[in-house]
Amino acid sequence: MHTDFVAALDIGGTKIAGALVDADGRLLLRAQRPTPAHEDGDTVMRAAEAVLAELTASPLWERTGAVGIGSAGPVDASAGTVSPVNIPGWRGFPLVERVRAATGGLDVQLVGDGVAMTAAEHWLGAARGHDNALCMVVSTGVGGGLVLGGKLHPGPTGNAGHIGHISVDLDGDPCPCGARGCVERIASGPNIARRALDNGWRPGPDGDTSAAAVASAARSGDPVAVASFARAAQALAAGIAATATLVEIDIAVIGGGVAGAGDVLFAPLRRSLRDYATLSFVQNLTVAPALMGTDAGLVGAAAAAWGTRSEEAALLK
Ligand SMILES: [Zn+2]
Repeated sequence: MHTDFVAALDIGGTKIAGALVDADGRLLLRAQRPTPAHEDGDTVMRAAEAVLAELTASPLWERTGAVGIGSAGPVDASAGTVSPVNIPGWRGFPLVERVRAATGGLDVQLVGDGVAMTAAEHWLGAARGHDNALCMVVSTGVGGGLVLGGKLHPGPTGNAGHIGHISVDLDGDPCPCGARGCVERIASGPNIARRALDNGWRPGPDGDTSAAAVASAARSGDPVAVASFARAAQALAAGIAATATLVEIDIAVIGGGVAGAGDVLFAPLRRSLRDYATLSFVQNLTVAPALMGTDAGLVGAAAAAWGTRSEEAALLK
């Protein structure tokens, strides 16, 4: 059978999205269900199966040769299981086996959502043409992934590049992961908002206390809001500089809701990076906003599936 398409699944705490994707990254058919995140594991799986059923019913399905999954983490790609923090019904859930069964035995590739976003940005987005890159999602949490030597580097379990849980403050606040002073504990949207509120920032008449509201206050010059973003930028810069020093990346791509703050985040981030990325081989490191938007998860899941197929094709030559 000739493969013209792969199926992509993007699994998060609020929605399960699916698509058939061609070799140029175009999304030809989409399906979506809300994630019944607080139901039992089989109920969550039925929502994923409903998405897959819409894809397999398509006339394009007979030319579909593989499945890629990007899932909220942690995932264990070597075991084929997922345990998303925000889907408690799935703990060590055998997602790969269940998706294979629902798709007539196709090959299934599983990666974490940060790795999927990285694959998408490297394929078609801001990291395109960069052989060594760190891509990050800064939103409710902070995730990421790595491209090394021109290839996605998911690591054995599919979680490599999870920069949100690198500690940048040795005696800092406890993080839900069990460590202290993690990048996520300082730079995620909820933590930017919490720190602004703790330091006396007050929301406008609409009562919006999100990081986006803090960003808009920072844009109008509110010093507490500016400081909260500067602290987040400092944590991100320390994590990015550590990564660059360790594996020599030349670009850090940042997406997710908090990156939507634009210069409120990127200006202090570029300043802080000069404080932490100091050795000669990391001084040219650049930072860029992500380009792939909300489809990054689907495009990245497809990239993971296509990547494996092209490696197989290369081996057969
Ligand atoms: Zn942590």
